[in-house]
Amino acid sequence: NKDKIDIRQLDTLAEMSYPLCMRQLHQRLRSAHHLKHFGRQQYGLFLKGIGVSLEDALLFWRSEFTKGMDPDKFERSYAYNVRHMYGREGKRANYAPQNCMKIISAPFAPGQFHGCPFKTLDPPGLTKALQGNGLSVLAQHEVVDLAKKGHFQLACSAFFSHTHKGSEQILIGHPNQYFDESQRIFT
Ligand code: SF4
Repeated sequence: NKDKIDIRQLDTLAEMSYPLCMRQLHQRLRSAHHLKHFGRQQYGLFLKGIGVSLEDALLFWRSEFTKGMDPDKFERSYAYNVRHMYGREGKRANYAPQNCMKIISAPFAPGQFHGCPFKTLDPPGLTKALQGNGLSVLAQHEVVDLAKKGHFQLACSAFFSHTHKGSEQILIGHPNQYFDESQRIFT
């Protein structure tokens, strides 16, 4: 029951309204033309949640993955996975977008890009990411401090406040909630 999202707007939406976890996955996909399994799950279900249709999701993943592999290989190894997320394969389950608790507790290894960056990035890495997303030095310190203390969702809320000037403080529990709150402010 959501408005359909135009996949040509994803770069703009990422910059404007994605939480940091999804910004990381989007940027990594754009630069490496690939994401590992957990990253595809986390980002793919988020996209479904913001209103990307199955047809558009296939177009989007195919357009990136086939910059680095044969279209045949994409169809054989990855298209099923996308359709599966939309409940069109296997058990035909309607998979829900992952919430913060699930993302925060996902198993993680270096070289992966899924998970919650407030947990997975070390302080210098997180500082760099925050700087890259336009936070002032003062704001960077505030967010990194919360993350260091293990308050990942509070760090995310602070990131929201600093990227939505004048907004009221909101508590983040779900990346799709973050997106909706942001869109409510910006549109
Ligand atoms: Fe994503 Fe939730 Fe972490 Fe924010 S707190 S970056 S929405 S997983």
